[in-house]
Order: sequence, then C-alpha cells, then structure tokens
Amino acid sequence: MTEKNECGCGKSTQETPCGSGHKPAPGNTDNWLEEQKLQECLQRIRHKILVMSGKGGVGKSTVAANLALSLSLSGKRVGILDVDIHGPSIPKMLHLDNANVQVKDGAIQPVEHAGLKVMSVGFLLKDRDDAVIWRGPMKSSVIKQFLTDVDWGELDYLIIDSPPGTGDEPLSVVQLAEPVDGAVVVTTPQDVATADVRKSIKFCKQLSLPVLGVVENMSGFVCPKCGEVTDIFKTGGGERMAAEMNVPFLGRIPIDPAVGEACDSGTPFVYHYSRTETAKAFERVIAPILALSAKQADQETQDQEDVMKIAIPIADGKLAMHFGHCAEFAVVEVDANTKTISGTQSLIPPPHEPGVLPRWLHEQGVHVIIAGGMGSRAQALFVENGIKVVIGAPSEPPETLVCAYLAGTLQSGANVCDH
Ligand code: ADP
Repeated sequence: MTEKNECGCGKSTQETPCGSGHKPAPGNTDNWLEEQKLQECLQRIRHKILVMSGKGGVGKSTVAANLALSLSLSGKRVGILDVDIHGPSIPKMLHLDNANVQVKDGAIQPVEHAGLKVMSVGFLLKDRDDAVIWRGPMKSSVIKQFLTDVDWGELDYLIIDSPPGTGDEPLSVVQLAEPVDGAVVVTTPQDVATADVRKSIKFCKQLSLPVLGVVENMSGFVCPKCGEVTDIFKTGGGERMAAEMNVPFLGRIPIDPAVGEACDSGTPFVYHYSRTETAKAFERVIAPILALSAKQADQETQDQEDVMKIAIPIADGKLAMHFGHCAEFAVVEVDANTKTISGTQSLIPPPHEPGVLPRWLHEQGVHVIIAGGMGSRAQALFVENGIKVVIGAPSEPPETLVCAYLAGTLQSGANVCDH
C-alpha cells in the first residue's frame, strides 16, 4: 500500500521527491538527496536516446557510435554512455581502450574523443578482458552512478548503448533516466525474422518508451571498388516489420567494409567518410532525432509566450529578506495573455553554493525574481541566466507581490540587504 509522505501527495516515501518540492519524511534524506542530484544531472541533458537490439552482433554499438558522431557533426553537444556491462565495445570502437578516467572535484570526468563525451564500464575494468559478474541491483546502481557522478555538463543528446535484449540494463536506464526520449532499435535483415527484435519493440511499448524507429543494418553490400550496393540477403524486412508493429522505419545501412575497418581501428566512420552513401544513410537515421530538439525549442518558445513564471524567496509564507539562504521558493505562474495568476508552486532550492540559485531557477523556467535584497554579483548572475531581477520588495505573501508587480504598483528599488 502507498504510505502518505510528509507532504501528503500520496507518493511512497521511497519515491520522494514527489515533484511538489515538499520536504522528504525524516529518515529518507539520503534517498531524497540522491534523487535530487540525479534530477539535477538529468535536467542538464536535453535528450536521452536508448539504442537497443534484439541480439548481439547486429551493429548496435556501431550505430550508437555513429549516431552520436553524426549528431556531434551537426553541431550538437553529445555524450555516449555504454551500459553494456558484460561486453562494453564503445572504448574499442572509438580507440579508447587505454583511456584512463579522471576524477575532478569529486566528479568522474568523461573521456573526450572527437567532440564526444564518452563513458563506459570498460574504462573502469583493470583488465579490459575481465568478465563482470553483477546482478540486477548492482547494474542499476552502476548505471545510476554513470548518470549522477559523471560530469556530463550541458548536453543536447546522451546516446545510451545498451546490451542486446531486454534485460536489467535497458530497464534501469528507462527507469532512472526518465524521461528517455525514445529508443532506436537496430536489426539486420536476418534478425528481422526472429522474435528478438519484436520483443525489443514490445518492451518499449510496455514501458511507454517511444520507439523513434527501426534501423536495418547490414542491409546490402557496398562494393569497395565501385561503391555499388548489392542486396546479398533479402532486404526490406525491417521496413515491413516496422510497419506491422506500427513504429517508424529509419532506414537501411549497407555492409560497408569501410564501416568495419573504421570501427575496428577506432576511427569513427562518419567522421572520416562523411561523403559516402553509407554516411548519408546514417544521416537519414539521425533526422528524427535532430527533429526532437527542434520540437523542444518550438515548445519552449510557445511556453515562454503563454506563461510567465515569477519566483519569490519565502519564509513563513511571505517574502524572505535573506534570499541566498532561504529554504523555499514560491514560483507564481502568470497567464501572459490575461495577466492573471494561474497557479503557485512551492519549490525547495538545492543546497547553498555560489551561483547555484540563478542556474536552478533558470532550469525551472523562471523569468522574473522578486526579492527583498540581493548582492550585486547575484543580480548579475540572474541577468546572465535570462532572469529579470526586482529588488526592494516588502515581506508580503507571493501572490500579493505578483499582483502588485503586474499592476505596476509594487514597492521596489532599494536594496535592503546587499551582502
Ligand atoms: P553489436 O553492438 O550489435 O554487438 P557491433 O556494433 O559491435 O555489434 O558490430 C559487430 C561488428 O560488425 C563490428 O566489427 C562492426 O565493425 C561490424 N559492423 C557493424 N555494422 C557494419 C556495417 N554496416 N558494415 C560493416 N561492418 C559492420
């Protein structure tokens, strides 16, 4: 049975934070802090894409690495996370077999390669040929660490290469990195006939994870001499299967000896052979993935036009004069068209550290902050984060202040606490 937590939102106490910004029940602080940290890291990654396959050897990691590189070549900030715990192949594919992972300021630094940020369990094994014997909960906790403790920074895309099948790793990714934007399912013409690839698609459907599409890899053969593509096996099965299962088909990638050679020597294919037909096939595969950012940018513009968010530091239900250390923020949402209040959210800020609040409030979509007093450095940081600062407001309830602000009658101007 779901136990009510302190805020009474109905979520289990294990599930805090509930999203309402309320404090966790006593005793759950560690879970809550961990969850907060995970959410903070995830908020800095705009799109998370899972690459899956029904079985091994179909070119899943090849597709994942080349997808990541194609996105990076399109000017996006991209990370690739290899969660294939038993058979990590991304280090070899990118020629990073001997890469050493550094820790800086308590955060694991991803290995940087060809414009990508790369992390793999392969980097952490002493001997790269070691076998890893980990059960489900351990896999989940290592994946959580990869999401939380790796310094990914701001990313447009994180491409997650999962092991073949529908085991613990893809399940943990979907649960931990929520919301994952979708999955790319890689198959070969021969694999299409097997139940494995359909299982991958059903897995996504069961978890309400959108299938961005199916890629038919190793479909036809590119002659290394003339570049002509010959269908050595029956092709087109991937497209038919995608239609049957009502998911998009992203395209065919031929067997190209240059792909194999590039991967085996660690020179990423699309990087060096960007003019070939095979690289163009990879480019077609990333089109719907690139469209995700365009869609999000449109949505953000639309949201910004419709809703204005005004943040106010709060103590005892009223504006808190000491803004930097306040324990709660009210975020009042205003319908930008009618200039009326449509709701108020109560949010708990992250632990105090210099510069954290402007960034955090920017991530919450805040446009204006109304405060009593604020140091000039903090004011500059808010402005850098696109947030308008109104200072010198009195200690009143948030809605009263916002109504006055909207009516142009808010008492403001004098900085009552410049330290
Ligand atoms: P998986 O991740 O599904 O196990 P990999 O991506 O490791 O598969 O690919 C297996 C092998 O097939 C690698 O040696 C890779 O270079 C090769 N390969 C994958 N796709 C192609 C392709 N389109 N053309 C040529 N070789 C390929």
